[in-house]
Amino acid sequence: QDVIHRVTVTPLPEPAGVLCVLEDLSEVEQMGQMRRDFVANVSHELRSPLTALSGFIETLKGAAKDDPAARERFLTIMEREAGRMNRLIRDLLHLSRVEAEERVRPTTEVDLADILRATKATLRPVSDAAGVTVRLELAEGLTTKVPGDADQLVQVFQNLMENAVKYGGAGGEVQVRLTADALPKSAALRVDVVDRGEGIDPQHLPRLTERFYRVDGHRSRESGGTGLGLAIVKHIVQRHRGRLKIESVRGAGSTFSVILPAA
Ligand code: ADP
Repeated sequence: QDVIHRVTVTPLPEPAGVLCVLEDLSEVEQMGQMRRDFVANVSHELRSPLTALSGFIETLKGAAKDDPAARERFLTIMEREAGRMNRLIRDLLHLSRVEAEERVRPTTEVDLADILRATKATLRPVSDAAGVTVRLELAEGLTTKVPGDADQLVQVFQNLMENAVKYGGAGGEVQVRLTADALPKSAALRVDVVDRGEGIDPQHLPRLTERFYRVDGHRSRESGGTGLGLAIVKHIVQRHRGRLKIESVRGAGSTFSVILPAA
């Protein structure tokens, strides 16, 4: 990365000489670049469904006007594209809300086991449709309370479990384990979401939580992914002063672990 400096030299009255201020602007420049990339990405992601919609509207008004079968087919595609825009906007709003709240620590206490049970139940239609069994394992005798925002933690595990079903579902089973762990300054609870799917090549791992980063862009879009799920997870986990760990072996599956300070 380039280092950008700004040097400001101000002459001072005698006998002081000059005041020379040397600033390192590389971080400021990097933030600016990230913001520009983000806007470009959002525009691109919104434009593709919009282009599809405009195209199909034109076709429906013209060539397909009197062809009921074609109309039906096009309307189905339009519905899918509109759904994609909807999800994208929903996730963008989630992300900006989570980022805005990142410095505010959650004050309520939640039961992680309850959250995992509820999330598993919510995802049942998705896992059933994919033919995947989600197995929840709770360690014996564990106190399962953490300081946390219930809605946000549901969002975290929903994103991780849905990804495990979507991308790791080939293994037929997704395991969700709740165990005790530790963080440098506190006791902690750890949730591992384990799939036995295709896994992820190591070079992708450090970038997975970047907004819009996808290992296989086409497949992720086809499956309805916005590319924002793991970015949202990362920010929520940061707000809870927790850790997100990703381990994966190509061909053997992935484990996404969330470690949260215990109550
Ligand atoms: P998306 O909306 O595309 O699913 P995410 O931010 O949730 O976006 O995930 C980013 C990318 O990480 C996905 O597009 C996918 O390529 C990869 N990924 C996420 N979870 C898994 C998993 N369990 N197994 C394999 N690849 C995964």
